[in-house]
Amino acid sequence: MRKPIIAANWKMNLGPKETEAFLSTFTGKLDNLTDQVDVVIAPPFVSIPAAIAALSSNSDVAIAAQNVSEQDNGAFTGEVSTMMLKELFVRYVIIGHSERRTLYGETNAVINAKLKQARVANLKPIFCIGETLEERDGGQLEEVLSSQITEGLEGISEKDMKEIVVAYEPVWAIGTGRVASAEQAQEAHAFVRSVIAGLYSSELAEKIRIQYGGSMKAANGAELLSQPDIDGGLVGGASLEPQSFLDLISAVAESE
Ligand code: PEP
Repeated sequence: MRKPIIAANWKMNLGPKETEAFLSTFTGKLDNLTDQVDVVIAPPFVSIPAAIAALSSNSDVAIAAQNVSEQDNGAFTGEVSTMMLKELFVRYVIIGHSERRTLYGETNAVINAKLKQARVANLKPIFCIGETLEERDGGQLEEVLSSQITEGLEGISEKDMKEIVVAYEPVWAIGTGRVASAEQAQEAHAFVRSVIAGLYSSELAEKIRIQYGGSMKAANGAELLSQPDIDGGLVGGASLEPQSFLDLISAVAESE
């Protein structure tokens, strides 16, 4: 049985003050939902200290970074290292988000290096994959997912793979309000799990949590999560207001 994991990706939204305000409302209403659902929040780097401070009494909510450098330290202007994140008590890191791939040119090789670097520091990666609409319409869905997974995970040991969460995010559904149907998402998730089984083993693939990402919200979360291979969500827009994020977490918890 895989425990659902819902992660908020705030992208370049919510500075330190807004983060503090969000979390004081959010944790006040979270009750014991984290018994049924793992909850992760990924604020911008500069808001992480405020988030950690606001959560001091609630370690049930994990903090993620939205990106990390594949380098240890040194002359890499604008980058943030895994060790810096560890020092802030960050537990997860989003790697390979489609916005990093398309806007900042991150290749499967770079993403692979980041995944390895994260695991050396014992951070749990949320490894994002997903196809564009052109790729889906062009019949390349499986080819694209397969190469993102195979190249992204190259050289990642079975032990490290167990600590990775995969996020399947069809690029055409991110931030567009256009959600994949539960059937489309399930089909892609089952395929992702089969590729992981081929690279490692069916036993390991059965343990890996695969999140869906792309316009997930309270109204569609339970239906998506009812699919056998959908184990959670990576959520942008619907995670920016405490109540809408709580509504989604509650909908998922109730459907369990
Ligand atoms: C995301 O940023 O990963 C995402 C899925 O965004 P949204 O929920 O807004 O589509």
